[in-house]
Amino acid sequence: MYDEAIVGGGVGGILTGAMLAHGGRAVILFEAMDYLGGCSGTFKRGGFAYNAGATTLVGLSPALPLGFLAQTLGVTLSVKAIDPALRVHLPDREVRMFQNRSRLVGELSRAFPQDDVEGLWKRIFRVSDSAWSVMRDLPPFPPRSVKELRSAARALMHLVAQGGPDVLRSAKTVVSSHVKTPPFRHFLDQLLLITNQAFSDEVPFLAGALGLSYTTLDNYSALGGMGAAAEAFARKIPVVMKQTLVRKIERNGGTFRLHTTRGSFEARRVILNRDVWGAASLFDDPSLKTLETKRQVRYRDRWGAVTLHFMVRNDFPGDFEAHHQIHHPLNPETGSRSFFLSLSEPSDERLSPGGFRSVTISTHTELPRWENLSLDGYRDKKDRFRDFVLLALYRAIPEFRNAEKGAILVGTPRTFARYTRRTGGTVGGIPLRLRHFPLGYPSSLTPLENVYFVGDSVFPGQGWPGVAVGAMGLVRRLEPDLLT
Ligand SMILES: Cc1cc2nc3c(=O)[nH]c(=O)nc-3n(C[C@H](O)[C@H](O)[C@H](O)COP(=O)(O)OP(=O)(O)OC[C@H]3O[C@@H](n4cnc5c(N)ncnc54)[C@H](O)[C@@H]3O)c2cc1C
Repeated sequence: MYDEAIVGGGVGGILTGAMLAHGGRAVILFEAMDYLGGCSGTFKRGGFAYNAGATTLVGLSPALPLGFLAQTLGVTLSVKAIDPALRVHLPDREVRMFQNRSRLVGELSRAFPQDDVEGLWKRIFRVSDSAWSVMRDLPPFPPRSVKELRSAARALMHLVAQGGPDVLRSAKTVVSSHVKTPPFRHFLDQLLLITNQAFSDEVPFLAGALGLSYTTLDNYSALGGMGAAAEAFARKIPVVMKQTLVRKIERNGGTFRLHTTRGSFEARRVILNRDVWGAASLFDDPSLKTLETKRQVRYRDRWGAVTLHFMVRNDFPGDFEAHHQIHHPLNPETGSRSFFLSLSEPSDERLSPGGFRSVTISTHTELPRWENLSLDGYRDKKDRFRDFVLLALYRAIPEFRNAEKGAILVGTPRTFARYTRRTGGTVGGIPLRLRHFPLGYPSSLTPLENVYFVGDSVFPGQGWPGVAVGAMGLVRRLEPDLLT
């Protein structure tokens, strides 16, 4: 009998399992695939390793959620600091996103001389500083007891006192008084898309400021891949069962029986590291199904991702940046206008063997574009996507054109649905749009007693930092003294 059964070895499941194990709970984690990390996993094909989706680790200083967790749990991550964390390639200019604030503002002011860069970034830094100062200790969401309500009110008051009234404003209101030219707005929008999953006219400024300033935090490439970072946290969990799919969960008096592809297991509590649309079929109880159906309707504007993976010979200069965002005209296959490219570190023995580097390219896509396709139609679409992206890449970074490359793999929403089990291929959680954030955002609570969600589709959302904050909030609810 286990205290905690964690269904899914994505970031949320692993961090929650590691924290609960640290608190002395008997934890078992089940992962359907043969590697951990989910969308932050590292998979192997043809003898090479590739990051499946996520490529950047942000915020390992102990003042930030992920760094705090690593320190508390005694986890050492093998990473390489990167600065600038991102190089953005616009059609007619480039921008390097430096960690140093004045250097960043200087670079942006040179790139967008007609816009009020300094005024906007001053407001971004004020709000993001105030947000990060409360993030690590955020109370469980939504508050359910007087004590939790009090700490939520304290956090909000602190946020407003430090961040000023912009904390409560929309990004649209704040941004419009500083943005004068369409290229600057487009630049901000594409950064917000990768961090908030939505554009400047949709997001709260609080979330937008965090997204726009992420490169001024400490940023890293994970050596051995993002999967290695996931594995490092997972080593704190006593029992990790890979290649073990949880098929059904039955309530058995006061406990649960989990039926898996490798036998049945009993636990007192179940933590679902599934997105909030994909867990009801595990239970016979109709209440979760009802909630899931409501959520399908309420959060229907969700994103999928399309990816390219390949190995490239490392003929790049020594200071060539690890992460690039490349802007391009509308891609008819995806509906996107930019993609993100990451190269593994040359010193990474696993991802960069024999003078090659592992490349992950990803972009957002509208999910319906990948639905109801015939087999040939699907293959043709993948080929057209690949050709479009490679052409845009060669235009932006000509070194890639003649560089020796290995096989080019294409991942689509179907791929994410198949391997990471994301419902319908949805990734990146729920966009941080004003209309749901924060109170309309799903929480880790379910209608079933002792069953909880964790991961990027519950508050406060996606990415390692967001998922870590959500996991810490859940653990504070389950074991209030564990993270004090
Ligand atoms: C293309 C892309 C790029 C990204 N880039 C970044 C980035 O650079 N930095 C960053 O911080 N974030 C990034 N993100 C976001 C980040 O990857 C995710 O927010 C995060 O990894 C999601 O974690 P999760 O806890 O929701 O778990 P998931 O990734 O959803 O993993 C869930 C796991 O549960 C397993 N599972 C599901 N059902 C079962 C079952 N019944 N039995 C057993 N196992 C099951 C799945 O196999 C999967 O491994 C990116 C995401 C994508 C898609």
